[in-house]
Amino acid sequence: MAHDTSSDPTVAAVPSRDRLVALLDRERAAYAAARPRSRALFDAADHLFGRVPMTWMAKWSGGFPLYLDTARGNRIRDVDGHTYVDFALGDTGAMAGHSPAATVAAVRRQLEELGGVTTMLPTADAEWVGAELSRRFGLPLWSFTLTATDANRWAIRLARLATGRPKILVFSYCYHGSVDEIFAVPGADGRAVSRPGNVGEPVPLDLTTRVVEFNDAEALERALAHGDVAAVLMEPALTNIGIVLPEPGYLDRVRELCTAAGTLLMIDETHTFSAGPGGATAAWGLRPDVLVIGKSIGGGIPSGAYGITDELADRVGAHPDADLVDVGGVGGTLAGNALSVAAMRATLENVLTDAAFGHMVDLATRFTAGVRTTIDRTGVAWSVQQLGARSEYRFAAPAPRTGTESANGADDDLDEYVHLFMVNRGILITPFHNMALMCPDTTVADVDRHTDVFAACVDELVGDGPVG
Ligand code: PMP
Repeated sequence: MAHDTSSDPTVAAVPSRDRLVALLDRERAAYAAARPRSRALFDAADHLFGRVPMTWMAKWSGGFPLYLDTARGNRIRDVDGHTYVDFALGDTGAMAGHSPAATVAAVRRQLEELGGVTTMLPTADAEWVGAELSRRFGLPLWSFTLTATDANRWAIRLARLATGRPKILVFSYCYHGSVDEIFAVPGADGRAVSRPGNVGEPVPLDLTTRVVEFNDAEALERALAHGDVAAVLMEPALTNIGIVLPEPGYLDRVRELCTAAGTLLMIDETHTFSAGPGGATAAWGLRPDVLVIGKSIGGGIPSGAYGITDELADRVGAHPDADLVDVGGVGGTLAGNALSVAAMRATLENVLTDAAFGHMVDLATRFTAGVRTTIDRTGVAWSVQQLGARSEYRFAAPAPRTGTESANGADDDLDEYVHLFMVNRGILITPFHNMALMCPDTTVADVDRHTDVFAACVDELVGDGPVG
């Protein structure tokens, strides 16, 4: 039975901790009982560090991950035979859907007909992709990588070279991949210190990084006044600590402050690409000096890219001693390989099209409205935010306006309960947060299924019936 909120319009994020723990135990037991094969594979993985191919995969709720059997479009089947509507979509890596037909055909052609994955030679597809990225994002010159992390790392090097400045400014609780400079939060005196859990920092972060809160233009102005910041590296909306949207006028002010301080503005669109075919940059009229993108543009094949202005290219070119062509710090042997470039071309040309975005954004709007209806009806102190084709709920209300506020709203038990409730009923949302992304294959029925399951999930939490 739903909580009576008539006299109390906002109940807490977790109305009863005891009830949450009981529900979580029930969902954990159901998860484990229905997945003996995944469990057995995990138990047998004695030669993997953390028992998983990459240590973060151990983070899936329920104590062991689902093992993948097949994935097509927005459906995943696990080795125990369960099928899921996939809203996690590889945390954006599969925003084009799993194995989209056009990408698969291009990859097949490159592998089987043409041959050559890694030859150290360019293919004609590369200029097509560069031109398409220019058309979408506005930056004229592009370079390719295999991950967004590498795109960020290499672009940071160019920014340091061009400006002669040592530091990168980031936002508290940002994420841009495993880039050394970014794992910073403001310490007591405002200087950058490691955020909790930062693994083996190479140098004290204060040497490389300044950090401020998102949506705080005054703090940004003060930090840039030191005159030592090469680039501001930002997602135009934070997406890795829930979705934190920019307040009206904030991004214009960031651009003005960067220009005034002689600091480059580096926009990371890896996730905010969900805002539209040209990401938030096109949707909101942003004017970055550097734009980074990765994950989704190769339709699942490792791909990334960064774009720069002509002006930045000229400034880099003014350093003929800088080794851009051999081992000077901006290279990857496999970057720009023929397979990755063919996948980017096919995905951008045929899959993540304007029409596909229209469909995906409409569905995310429907998804968000469905979640909001349940939050409003039950009165839980949660919020939901939409960014184009993605939507995310957060266990805090009103919606956080900084990364730190959002981090403070984290609740591991609640997180696990919601994820397991969903998984046990055939829905995957992104691990680490409650993000749902639409892809070209997602349907209205898939969204409505989530709306129903989400309502049931919250009703159980606020209810007082037996935990059966
Ligand atoms: N930038 C952003 C905004 C990201 O969210 C991520 C990963 N979540 C990255 C960069 C790094 O992507 P990858 O791990 O594929 O290198």
